[in-house]
Amino acid sequence: MPIYKAPVDEALFLLNDVFHIDRYGNLPGFADASPDVIEAVLREAGKYSEQVIAPLNRIGDTEGCTRASDGSVTTPAGFKDAYKQLVDGGWIGISVPEEFGGQGLPATMTAIVNEYLCSANMAFAMYPGLTQGAIAALLAHAAPELKQKYLPKMVTGEWTGTMNLTEPHCGTDLGLLRAKAVKQADGSYKISGTKIFISAGEHDLAHNIIHLVLARIEGAPTGTKGISLFVVPKFMVGDDGTPGARNGVSCGSLEEKMGIHGNATCVMNYDGAVGWLVGEENRGLPAMFTMMNEARLGVGIQGLAQSEVAYQNAARYAKERLQGRAISGVKFPDKAADPIIVHPDVRRMLMTMRAFNEAARALVIWTALQGDIAHRSEDAKQRQTADDAMGLLTPVVKGVLTDTGFANTVMAQQVFGGHGYIAEHGMEQFVRDARIAQIYEGANGIQALDLVGRKLGKDGGRALMAFLNEVGVYIKEQGADEKMKPLVTPLGVALGHLQQASMWFMQNAMAKPDNAGAGATDYMHMFGLVALGYMWCRIAAAAQTKLPDANGAAAHYNAKLVTARFFMERMLPETAAHLARIQSGAASMMELPAEAF
Ligand SMILES: Cc1cc2nc3c(=O)[nH]c(=O)nc-3n(C[C@H](O)[C@H](O)[C@H](O)COP(=O)(O)OP(=O)(O)OC[C@H]3O[C@@H](n4cnc5c(N)ncnc54)[C@H](O)[C@@H]3O)c2cc1C
Repeated sequence: MPIYKAPVDEALFLLNDVFHIDRYGNLPGFADASPDVIEAVLREAGKYSEQVIAPLNRIGDTEGCTRASDGSVTTPAGFKDAYKQLVDGGWIGISVPEEFGGQGLPATMTAIVNEYLCSANMAFAMYPGLTQGAIAALLAHAAPELKQKYLPKMVTGEWTGTMNLTEPHCGTDLGLLRAKAVKQADGSYKISGTKIFISAGEHDLAHNIIHLVLARIEGAPTGTKGISLFVVPKFMVGDDGTPGARNGVSCGSLEEKMGIHGNATCVMNYDGAVGWLVGEENRGLPAMFTMMNEARLGVGIQGLAQSEVAYQNAARYAKERLQGRAISGVKFPDKAADPIIVHPDVRRMLMTMRAFNEAARALVIWTALQGDIAHRSEDAKQRQTADDAMGLLTPVVKGVLTDTGFANTVMAQQVFGGHGYIAEHGMEQFVRDARIAQIYEGANGIQALDLVGRKLGKDGGRALMAFLNEVGVYIKEQGADEKMKPLVTPLGVALGHLQQASMWFMQNAMAKPDNAGAGATDYMHMFGLVALGYMWCRIAAAAQTKLPDANGAAAHYNAKLVTARFFMERMLPETAAHLARIQSGAASMMELPAEAF
């Protein structure tokens, strides 16, 4: 059975020594997040993930969800009990404002907790994850009475939430959406239509399911400007907050799919279901987009989480599996063969995964911190800068962490050789589960277009300039330190590539938009490499500071410095290839007619 150990000490090092979370004590909720509280919360979340839901990961995969003829859905054995423990622990609302029953702690902590849950059991973690997404949408846009009615029970987890966007003919292009809403005399709406691929659309974990549904009000304009957002409960909710009669929404079928079998992916039929408008009429898409940053960060975390758990298992296997002898000479003469960790090519795989995971975790925490500042700071300028950074980094986190996270699950599987292909070891499940994160919540190609098409030029390129400037200033400052020079010098080269690519788009994509589309994915990955390189420099700087007094922990901090060097030497140089591809433009990509394919 696969192992999993929540990397709590890693998160504590990042929070305390790299990002100095104590400096944000002026933000609401941060004062309550004392070092003791943070450590207690993370250790408890780690324990729950390791002991309660990790053992259910394989069961969830093999058993999957089942749908009865009445449309009810049963989750795999053990999920119900594990979910009850999640609710009892109050885990869903740790970052929700206290007035709705949450604990008001920084959203950064939720991001870290979600990594543990997703590493342990991604299919299970999606049930609370979707609820958190729905809570965010209601918090930002719902009228006070809707908030009062739905939020408290969603925050405890007694009720779960869903997001209903996708229809059979409309995924990326939501302007094609057909689900219909008809206004009723009492101010409610009757919602009709079919939604597909709805995660957690129906299940047996909670007493009620609160669906957030995009639909078009009768007579509304076509396209994206005529879409509204509605809250549609599975069971109608009385004024006293208790669930009553069944609403006109049901699960038509469950999708058979590649991975995340423990999560119910449902076709949802809305047959005149009663719903209430969230936010303004025809403003449903912008309402969805305000919570998209958080949801996309959440999916990026899934990529990191699968990469982390796959790495942990690959590292253990590489130390145990005996095959061949080290090319530099026998290392374990008393054994029949050396463990495969002696082979440089196996090291290449382990170091690649490790160098990604540690920096990706830093990037998640840094991005989540920007989100907290953007939502909680009283200083308008600080809010704007943080919001810019969060907006810019979100497609990078979603796209790069899920693409690389998936690639790393394949790499970890490779470390197992043929045994990685056999279900018993659990490695092929990580591959299958990680794959979806590249697709949903906006396929990764769309994340790249969001970055290049929307985020780069937004507000005259303000967010990009701020990022380039921050990294540039850091390189200059740290360049004076002989110990940091070997790390910041390559980062400077990569930053130069990012600047050249940004400039190239400015000069070549306005007149020929295909040039932007053709280079977008390369640009997103190049951006990711620079951001991860920046994270490695900050991690290394913190490790250097800790080393003189590290005593027993010296090996730990030295390992950070070695891994940082590996990243700079073996991973960051890829920015040059990305730049070359971007600068080749769209010509060879677009020349052949469609019939030639
Ligand atoms: C397991 C699972 C769970 C899901 N959960 C949910 C959920 O809870 N709620 C929900 O609403 N949806 C959910 N989805 C749907 C998911 O978000 C969509 O599948 C996804 O957004 C892509 O839409 P699509 O499948 O229609 O692909 P399409 O939109 O048809 O895209 C196909 C390909 O074309 C590319 N493409 C499309 N348009 C463009 C463009 N303009 N420029 C460049 N490339 C383009 C895409 O990047 C993609 O590679 C889920 C899907 C799955 C498989």
